Parts: sequence; C-alpha cells; structure tokens
Amino acid sequence: MKIKNNFYIVITISVLMITLSISISLINFMVSLNATETDLKTRSLPLTVDNIYTEIQKHIIEPNLVASMMAHDTFLKDWLINDEQNSEKIIRYLEAINNKYGMFVAFLVSEKTQSYYTQSGFLEHLNSSKPDNAWYFNFKKVQGDNEINLDFNNNLDNSLIMFINHKIYDNEYHFVGATGIGLKISYINDMLKRFRQEYNFTVMFVNEKGEIILSERSDSKIKNLSDTPELHRISDQIIVKESKILEYQKNGENYLLKTKYIPELNLYLIVEAKLDDFIKNVRQTFYMNLAISLLMTVIITLIILLTIRGYNKKLEFMASNDTLTGLMNRSAFNDSFNDFLRLSKRNGNPLSLIFFDIDNFKMINDTLGHQAGDNVLIRIAELLKNRLRRTDIIGRWGGEEFIIGLIDTDQESAEVIAETLRKAFEEDAHLIHLTPSHITASFGIATARTADAIETILSRADSAMYRAKELGKNRIETE
Ligand code: GH3
Ligand code: MG
Ligand code: MG
Repeated sequence: MKIKNNFYIVITISVLMITLSISISLINFMVSLNATETDLKTRSLPLTVDNIYTEIQKHIIEPNLVASMMAHDTFLKDWLINDEQNSEKIIRYLEAINNKYGMFVAFLVSEKTQSYYTQSGFLEHLNSSKPDNAWYFNFKKVQGDNEINLDFNNNLDNSLIMFINHKIYDNEYHFVGATGIGLKISYINDMLKRFRQEYNFTVMFVNEKGEIILSERSDSKIKNLSDTPELHRISDQIIVKESKILEYQKNGENYLLKTKYIPELNLYLIVEAKLDDFIKNVRQTFYMNLAISLLMTVIITLIILLTIRGYNKKLEFMASNDTLTGLMNRSAFNDSFNDFLRLSKRNGNPLSLIFFDIDNFKMINDTLGHQAGDNVLIRIAELLKNRLRRTDIIGRWGGEEFIIGLIDTDQESAEVIAETLRKAFEEDAHLIHLTPSHITASFGIATARTADAIETILSRADSAMYRAKELGKNRIETE
C-alpha cells in the first residue's frame, strides 16, 4: 500500500476524531451551561434572596420589639397624657433606651404639642408643610399600629436610617403620639457589597413605584426601574407580591432576576445575576477541552502517519529485498542490473557479473541443522556487503546462490574481486566458528557485451559457475 492511499484513511480518521471531540466538548458545554443556569435559578439566587430576607428580619425583630415596648410603656403614656411635665425625665428615658440597645435615635412625638423629642432633647415642632416631617402625618393615616420607614434623615445625619414607628394610644384608644427608634442600616450596604463581591450579584430594593430605595452605594446609578428600559418593560412582573425568577437582556447580555416582596419593609427585593459572569468558567473549560482534544487528534494523527510510514518502508523493503539476508531479491536485482546494462552500453564502460553458489550447502543443513545454514547465508551476505563497493549491486538469486553486478569493472578486475571473496569465505573466522568445515563457493564470471540482455549475460555466468562446480568447486571460472 502506498502512503497516498493511506493518507485518505488518516484524514478520514482525523476528521472523525475532530468531529467526535468537538461534539463531546459541545455536549459537555451545553450540559454545563444548562446546569449553571438551573443552579442559579433554583439554588444560588433563591438562597441569596432568602439569606438577605433572613438577615433583614433578624435585624428588624429586636428594634421592633423595643419600639413596641416603648409604645406600651405606661410611664411614657402617662407623661404624654399629663401634659409633658418635666421633659428631662422623658429625655433620660429615651437616652436609656438608645444606650441600652445601641440605636441611632430613640424618639417620641406628642400629638398634642407636635413636639419631637430624641435622646438629645427637644428637637422641633412638627409641621405638616415641612417635607422632613411628612412621615408623621402620613403615619397617623396608615391603618396599622406601626410601620417601618427607610429615610435619609437630614436632621440627624445624612445616612440611610431605618425608622420603626409605633403609635401610642391612651386608655380610651385615642392616638396620643408616636414613638420608636431609628437605626443606621449600614449592615444592609455591607451585605449587598458582600453579595456582589462573593457572587457577582447585584441586589436592590424597590418600592411599589419602582423607585430604588436601597442599593449598594457604588451602584446607585439608576434611581428607578424605569431608568433602564429593559427593566421598565418587566417592572409589572417585578412589583408583585409573589417571588419570581425573570430573565431579560441588556446590551446583548443575559440577566437573571430573582424577586421577593419583603412585607416588613413594604419593598421588593431584587437579586440580579449576569449570566455571562457565571458561564465564563464553563466557556473556558469548553475551550480547554477543545484545545486538548484537537492536540490529541494531531498527536494521534502523527502517530498513525509515522506508523503507516514505518510499515510502508517495511513493505517496500520486503518487496525488493530478501528477508533473511537483507540483500536484493531476484526481481529487484534484475531491475537494477538492467539499468547498469543500459548505462554501460551508453558510456561504453565495462560491466561484469559474478554468480556464485555455496559448495555442499545441503550437507551443512543436514549435519548442523537449517538454522546453522541460515546463519551461514547471513554471514556470507555480511561479507559481501563489507567487501564490495557501494556502487556494486548484490542479490540473493535463490537458495545458496548469490549474484553481484560490478559497475565499471572488466573481466580481470571481476576475477580479482571474485578471488578476494572466495578467500574471504574460506578464511572467515566467523564462518569457521559456525561450521567445522571451511565454507567455500564456486564462482562464474561474465562481462557484458554490446548485444547482451540480462538473460544472456546471466546464462554465461551460470554456465561458468557450473563449470567451476564440475572442475572441483571452490574456484572461479570465466565465460
Ligand atoms: P553443490 O555444492 O553442488 O552446490 O551442493 P549443494 O548441497 O550446495 O547444492 P544443492 O542444490 O543440492 O542444495 C542446496 C541446499 O540449500 C538445498 C536447500 O535445502 C538449501 N537451502 C536453500 N535455501 C535455503 C535457506 O534459505 N536456508 C537454508 N538453511 N538452506 C537453504
Ligand atoms: Mg544451488
Ligand atoms: Mg550449492
């Protein structure tokens, strides 16, 4: 088989392997992609939402209890009902609450005088026309006994404060004022930051109008869901009481949203994940897999090519060489000698042929075994290769018969060469070691004539060799 025929087989195998590895990598990629998306939708995002909700609840429960306790405190009620005598007492009360629970502010508002007290003392008279005071007048109108407000309080500090307001009633259930506490909610910002840094999640809280009430400080570029057209489009799905998983596209990138209504704050929690951030690793693994498979394909293709080339060389060698001695076989010798003949006719240089047959070879086989006979043939071939010129051609004609083509060699020179060979066989230490008797051969020499074809010159060399046998073997005869 020639290498070119095999080339197509190798190409087919390589294409099949590449197709296979690309398909496997692609399937893996799709499966991983799906798994990542499912994990985000069913685990990471819902867990984050629950975590945040739990954290918020945890931070609200205690302050809410404190505010409720204040609203039901008889001392506080009596103080309000008894015309707010001695404000020092109430300020100390607020101060004690504030210090004990580490609040930011503990406050009391009297409905009768509209006075606003904090642990630091009397602060102001509330006025319904002042935007900063609007919370109180709104609170009075709400149905429940309490509410939670998130507010940037300019009077106290410009940071975000969570106020827990409770209504105070007298014994006849008349509204007499409001009390409660305010605490800085920097923990929420820290929490949002942590979720962004650890999970690449963007977290925000929006109210019913879609206004973003809370988001990580560094991230507060948008003030309302409607500032982002893509979010605006799905805002009626976000601002609903039931928790949802939503998908949307922004700037050609896919986003996943998990939403949850937080009743305590009357806000909607939104956790957003950019899908690309999560499939980056999956994509990298895909490229890696692909690169490794392609590399493996190249390596395997090379191995196949080299192996085939090795086999081809072996086949080619076997086609023209004798397997035992490695010398040319009959047909290869014929081809080469024909070339020599043509060359010799063209340039007029002499060309000689030596044909020899090992004497009594059958006896070696019979007495020492076939393997010993083989070893003798191998050694003879070695001697020929060592003694003759590189330009000469040597062939095994068959059995224990060898043939040598000597380029640019006339009959006399051929005789000299044959004589060296004859002597070399007879005296070779290796051959003597192989057989107790000396190895000899009978040689016939013929030199090319102008009209010669390979058959004619061969037949003359063959006849000369037979004559050498007849004349007692171990000798050289010329045509
Ligand atoms: P002569 O001197 O007249 O040439 O006698 P001979 O015994 O050498 O000649 P003959 O033609 O009777 O025997 C040749 C033997 O060579 C017979 C054959 O079995 C043996 N032979 C041929 N090829 C091989 C081979 O590859 N290996 C071995 N070991 N023997 C071989
Ligand atoms: Mg023979
Ligand atoms: Mg013989």
